[in-house]
Amino acid sequence: GIVLDLRHQLYSHLERLPTSFFDQMETGDLVQRCSSDVETIRVFLASQVVEIGRVSLFLMVAIPLMLLEDVRMTLVSLVIVPVIIGFAIVFFRRVRSLFEQIDEAEGRLTTVIQENLTGVRVVRAFGQQEYEIEKFMQRNGDFRDLEYELFRALSNYWSVSDVLCLSQLGVILIGGGYFVLQGGMSVGSWVMFFWLLKMIIWPIRHFGRVLADSGKATVAIGRVQEILDQQVEEAAEAEKLAADLKLDQATRPKQGAMGPLTGDIVAKQLSFSYRDGTEALSKLDLHIPYGETVAILGPPGAGKSTLVNLLVRLYEYGQGSLRIGKQEVSSISRERLRFAFGLVSQDPFLYSTTVAKNLLVGDSEASQADLEEVTRAAAVHDNIRQFDAGFETSVGERGITLSGGQRQRLAIARAFLKQPSFLVLDDSLSAVDTRTETLILDSLAKRKGKQTTILITHRLSSTRLADRIFVIDEGTLKQQGTHQELVAQPGYYRRLWEIQNALENQISGDLEKDAVSGTAAEML
Ligand code: ADP
Repeated sequence: GIVLDLRHQLYSHLERLPTSFFDQMETGDLVQRCSSDVETIRVFLASQVVEIGRVSLFLMVAIPLMLLEDVRMTLVSLVIVPVIIGFAIVFFRRVRSLFEQIDEAEGRLTTVIQENLTGVRVVRAFGQQEYEIEKFMQRNGDFRDLEYELFRALSNYWSVSDVLCLSQLGVILIGGGYFVLQGGMSVGSWVMFFWLLKMIIWPIRHFGRVLADSGKATVAIGRVQEILDQQVEEAAEAEKLAADLKLDQATRPKQGAMGPLTGDIVAKQLSFSYRDGTEALSKLDLHIPYGETVAILGPPGAGKSTLVNLLVRLYEYGQGSLRIGKQEVSSISRERLRFAFGLVSQDPFLYSTTVAKNLLVGDSEASQADLEEVTRAAAVHDNIRQFDAGFETSVGERGITLSGGQRQRLAIARAFLKQPSFLVLDDSLSAVDTRTETLILDSLAKRKGKQTTILITHRLSSTRLADRIFVIDEGTLKQQGTHQELVAQPGYYRRLWEIQNALENQISGDLEKDAVSGTAAEML
């Protein structure tokens, strides 16, 4: 029961931790903490706690019996026992760090396995198998070496403690024999002392094992505790709210004002750095009126996704202001914010379940007709119909493998189904062909005005829909305006536009030439 609760508590805690926590942790290490560390705690509770009870009971019965019989002989019988216990304590204190190292080494091993399974295609595509096998062997070897070191230390411990225990029995034989010969003790008492000591000495020796396991368990509890000590998002939120309450009454969320979240998105002098010090946004100013469709353009690493991360509070910004309507984003509850946003990322995540269930994540109460409608709008309906089981086809590990574009379109359909106030497509059309892109853009055009749509994109074709285009570079706003306004002024947008035009001209020129030589069809 205790372990069940612990696992449950650990997992629900993990689900509520801020995203930045996962940036600095390795997945393998986390899996290790949730599985094998919890198992260590279970073994300790299940066997050693019982053992502690048993040893204590033996001692509580045997020692008074001995004392009643003969105090002098009792002292002789227990003379080496403090040495045995002292030796166990000193020894297990010294191997404690070894237990920690082994745990960490096992975590590193799990990480290699997990990374390799997740990135199996990349590993193969780049012919990295040998390198990865080598890496695994190295970590496997390190793990073995540490375990070996531990077992050597343990074998030394057991043999020395064996000698100590047997010596104690020897002391009884010799000391008791002496007392009997002196006439101070009966043979019966001598035998009784021998048997009583035999009964307690091995459990006492086992005390070392209990200490060993408690050392291991302490390390495991420490590692589990480290996760449990991390502040969950809501707790951080509650604290921040309390602080805001003192600092700024105006930004406090109004109780009861819970309707759907709508309003202009306004960033003012917004700056943000990730924990590792990377400055992703630097004094960004931006105004997205509610209901508009806007495009955010910029080179990779410009800070586009970071802005979205801040909007849904995956990360907390420190400087500047980011508002939706009149409210500061940091004072809107995460639940409410995330409910209002439909987010499609570049590499969307789908669960290993059916197409329908993946879509229903957007709205669990949607009907079949709704599913049909949104998948049509996201130009993925025909694909689904072609799957053997239609909407009931499993995707992912135990089902069919979808292409990048199909995944993106399913994710778009899922976001449509949610009917969010703010729809964000973060480079989500990168893996679809131009014709499909046009279909999806048409669907977006039909939904124009119903929600704010933010298109993060590299392709100029997607910007044709936009009422307004923002060009971001190095975390700050460089240009904004409509397509016409932006091509009229020098800058990133015009350069992109010129390159794209030049490319299109070149392609159509090549096609014409090839048409003459009759190879155009082949080229197409
Ligand atoms: P874009 O979406 O425009 O390609 P991002 O917002 O993803 O750019 O990234 C902006 C900068 O922040 C980049 O320098 C990137 O390396 C960095 N960055 C993004 N995510 C993280 C993260 N989780 N931890 C640390 N740095 C990050």
